[in-house]
Amino acid sequence: MAAPAVIAVDLGGTSLRAALAGPDGQLGPIRRTRTDARGGPESVVAQIAALVAEVCAAGNDPEVLGVGLASPGPLDPFTGTVFTLPTFQGWHNVPLRDLVARATGLPVTLENDAASAAMGEWRFGAGRGVDSLVYVTVSTGIGGGVILDGRLLHGRMGMAGHVGHMILEPDGPRCGCGNRGCWEALASGTALGRIVREQLAAGAPSSMQAIAGRPVTAEDVVTAARAGDPLGVALLAAEARYLGIGIVSLLHLFSPERVILGGGVSTALDLMAPGIAAEIAERAMAPFRSVPVVAAALGGNVGLAGAAAMAFQSARVPVS
Ligand SMILES: [Zn+2]
Repeated sequence: MAAPAVIAVDLGGTSLRAALAGPDGQLGPIRRTRTDARGGPESVVAQIAALVAEVCAAGNDPEVLGVGLASPGPLDPFTGTVFTLPTFQGWHNVPLRDLVARATGLPVTLENDAASAAMGEWRFGAGRGVDSLVYVTVSTGIGGGVILDGRLLHGRMGMAGHVGHMILEPDGPRCGCGNRGCWEALASGTALGRIVREQLAAGAPSSMQAIAGRPVTAEDVVTAARAGDPLGVALLAAEARYLGIGIVSLLHLFSPERVILGGGVSTALDLMAPGIAAEIAERAMAPFRSVPVVAAALGGNVGLAGAAAMAFQSARVPVS
């Protein structure tokens, strides 16, 4: 029999992925399918069970300790209940953990995707070796997870770490949560895309005016900024400012040893680092200013790595 392993499952709005994982964080071949987001919970549970069976069958007779499942939220990791999945149809208070456990015959650990990613970076990525960190993912939205004094912060219903909904501007733009001026509404990739389209529509001179046939996105802003386009450079500077301001609050709240930035927008961290550092230097209390802000290390596999870390923790098997 091979070494103990877990099966990591990453449930996303468009793709569902699974892989065998060892205590060193190494993933086996990744199996994937298109998420049946319109088919309701039963269909998605059947998809998960089928992928888990495939992964087991392809492994070298692994001793599977359990399944780690990273899912969008909001969800309660203690009861294993997904409250709702905004981009899925028919999901309302679904006992996802127990449904998957029944369908696979394996113990299941359910965690929200951002918290799971924080676990992944902590155990296997850019957060190795520290006891306290804040992980922030900046992509469609802004999500996060907080590791403090050697454990993932959960709070009531396991909902701690929704960093994207810190309100930075009380009268700012509307957020998906219904509020105004959340960090997510100001600095997510979606927000950056909205802002650049507004600026272009108002006639701002930019190489991005030549983009036709599709909406201009945050990714275009990064590409333009790298090429020295003045609008791209200015918008990334504004993005860095808002990221820096949000990070200052996280430093003051949690006193992490490290802040880890992941998600699509963080691929431009090299361009934004001076702007983020300037906000921290100006706004953070002196003892907090030396905390490094670093790029996430695990890229697109962070969900699977985090799910694996959760499953090993539940099985009380140490990872390295
Ligand atoms: Zn919000």
